Amino acid sequence: MNALDRIRKHPSVAALPARWRPVFIEADCEPDGIAPACTDEGHEDTDGSVYGCCPEPVIEVADPHVAEYLAALLNADRGVGR
Ligand SMILES: [Zn+2]
Repeated sequence: MNALDRIRKHPSVAALPARWRPVFIEADCEPDGIAPACTDEGHEDTDGSVYGCCPEPVIEVADPHVAEYLAALLNADRGVGR
């Protein structure tokens, strides 16, 4: 079993949401973080902002391309967005 397989089984990791998105925490033109997809009916899928309705964890990522990459990587690893 490799390191990725091992850490996937940890309860903290297994409990993470399945769908992630790049988000705007402080910035408003390029993503500066990632967060789980928000399922609140008042929060449109295309709205990358973070509000009180949004699930945790919201994770700051300094580089917008890394934020896009991490969200895509999490979605691929968790079986969505492939
Ligand atoms: Zn929300």
